[in-house]
Amino acid sequence: MTELAAFSDTYAEARKKFLDAARRAGAKISSYQHPSERGPAGEPLCLDVSVLGPGNASRLFVVGSGTHGIEGYPGSAVQRAWLRSRPRLPRDTAVVFFHGQNPWGFAHKTRTTEENVDLNRNFIDFGAPLPANPGYEEVHPLIALRDWSDAAVEGAFAGLDAFRERVGEKAFSDAFNGGQYTRPDGIFYGGARPQWANHAFRAALETHAGRAAKVAFLDLHTGIGPWCDHVYLCFHPEGSPARERARTWWGERAVNLQGVTHKKLATYSGTIIDAVAQMLPQAEVTSIVVEFGTLPRRDMQRAGLAQRWMRFEGQRDPVLASKVRREYEAAFYPAAPEWRRAVLEQSKEFIDRGVAGVAAS
Ligand SMILES: [Zn+2]
Repeated sequence: MTELAAFSDTYAEARKKFLDAARRAGAKISSYQHPSERGPAGEPLCLDVSVLGPGNASRLFVVGSGTHGIEGYPGSAVQRAWLRSRPRLPRDTAVVFFHGQNPWGFAHKTRTTEENVDLNRNFIDFGAPLPANPGYEEVHPLIALRDWSDAAVEGAFAGLDAFRERVGEKAFSDAFNGGQYTRPDGIFYGGARPQWANHAFRAALETHAGRAAKVAFLDLHTGIGPWCDHVYLCFHPEGSPARERARTWWGERAVNLQGVTHKKLATYSGTIIDAVAQMLPQAEVTSIVVEFGTLPRRDMQRAGLAQRWMRFEGQRDPVLASKVRREYEAAFYPAAPEWRRAVLEQSKEFIDRGVAGVAAS
């Protein structure tokens, strides 16, 4: 039972456990505090960074949690449990954990930032024309529910199904969750400007990885994949050395989309992984997303609609909103002990493999 103590119910609890584990492991800690926003209990919101191993190591294995706020609860548990596992590092290698990459969403238990921005669509060049997503203009009126009920949600899905039939799976995924920059009250909104969390991430990455020769970045998420299992999303192009490294370190499943519950993955704009590649031109970069599966895709889409409804309409019906909130939280942060145990077991293995991989590459 004690291993499940790695999991937390609030951001403040998760942050404290992470910082305690990092200190006990002998890691160095830096914190980047949000200048104006606070958590629900008035607590400060920070991106916290732990560095275990030499600060000037030429090889770094970086693990990020909480890009999508609420998904940081399992991510934080993964980081804390690994720090407590008495890891032994290969020489000239450091393990860097970024805890709470979107701490506002983490503390307020939602995927997005204080401006309803999906941080994982926010790393675009805001000096250039914003990416267009004409398909989303068709999706938005279908999913922007004023009232929440099973009938209203079923109506939305009927519209979405008709749209998907017409445009096909890939265009549907691009429209639905590729990212959009026109509807601040929509889903997968990439923002009109860089978020504070974007600036904080860039500052932390520059400070901690700006001089390393080899950097691996693994971003922890939940919501895609089978229950109690994890899937890898590798965005390095087919045939690239980085993709081959991912295959060598984690096996074929790192690159073949094994277990991915989307029939076609969207082409995403502005991901945090894009930022890592752009910001570290000096380094040989290997990046990967790991998703722990929770519920089937349709339930996750329903959760996306619920998130939007809670934020923009839920205050009109607080009783219903708290019921919708429980369903939403369970979709991204399941309480089932078998799920939480699977997260800890599987993450220990893939982090150890990644550390060994970057040390040997
Ligand atoms: Zn995510």
